[in-house]
Amino acid sequence: MIRQYTLRQVVRTRGIGLHGGSPVFMSLLPAPPNTGIVFRRTDLSPPRDVPGRAEYVAETTLNSGLAYDGTKVTTVEHLMSALAGLGVDNCTVELSAPEVPIMDGSAAPFVYLIQSIGLVAQPVPRRFLRVRQPVQVSDGDKWARLEPYDGFRLGFTIDFDHPLLAATDQRASFEFSPAAYVREVSRARTFGFMREFEWLRSKNLALGASLDNAVAVDDFRVLNHEGLRYGDEFVRHKILDAIGDLYLLGGPLLGAYSAHKSGHALNNDLARALLADAQAWEWVVFADARAQAPLAYAGMLELPA
Ligand SMILES: [Zn+2]
Repeated sequence: MIRQYTLRQVVRTRGIGLHGGSPVFMSLLPAPPNTGIVFRRTDLSPPRDVPGRAEYVAETTLNSGLAYDGTKVTTVEHLMSALAGLGVDNCTVELSAPEVPIMDGSAAPFVYLIQSIGLVAQPVPRRFLRVRQPVQVSDGDKWARLEPYDGFRLGFTIDFDHPLLAATDQRASFEFSPAAYVREVSRARTFGFMREFEWLRSKNLALGASLDNAVAVDDFRVLNHEGLRYGDEFVRHKILDAIGDLYLLGGPLLGAYSAHKSGHALNNDLARALLADAQAWEWVVFADARAQAPLAYAGMLELPA
């Protein structure tokens, strides 16, 4: 049987919110089978829960933000990506503020945090969301698509008319496995253009942004002294974001995602379009004692036990 996993124990960290700029304490807690990923605002009295689900995405400007019953949690995508990448099915995420901490702008600090305590198998089968029919959404020249695939594959193209980005590879494809996720995707940081920065500040966005948590690009170069972590870090971060946005579907995906210039808004449109079409997807479990995990997810069982 391919089982569900949760965290072995509680793990805590602190950071700042990218958009609000305020300090936030975060605890990741083990959760019972079939809980999924649930965010809990402990700064509210009583604490309020917000399910990490695509249908509750309420904000997609420079982040994926949730709202449930009047309670908001923003910038969930990098943590969702790490949880998807490592195969965490059930987790309660306690937050002392409305925003998940940005850490270094990638998913790597969350991966490190989760790997430092390890996962524990739970006695129920993991539910995979299998794509049965192609679904596509578009907005002008941007599009995103899901189609059937025996595994989990992502392909992404960005198309920035910018001398630096145009000089990097703006196209990437990724065959998902946990080990490949940690190695090839998790460290890719979010990025921003200096010329947009002042405008964002005027909108009270990106108040916590700095060279510690984003790759900043001016008209010609990367401003971070350390340079890029991957030659194609920009497009890899878009894949990191897509993995997080798609994990809001409520389980690991069996399908192929491809996108051109997509972002959080279109990714959420795609998730909603899939969920709305009952013919296009189904839940599957591998409950047989000898059931083999789909290749993409086989490495899950190699995590620290
Ligand atoms: Zn991102």
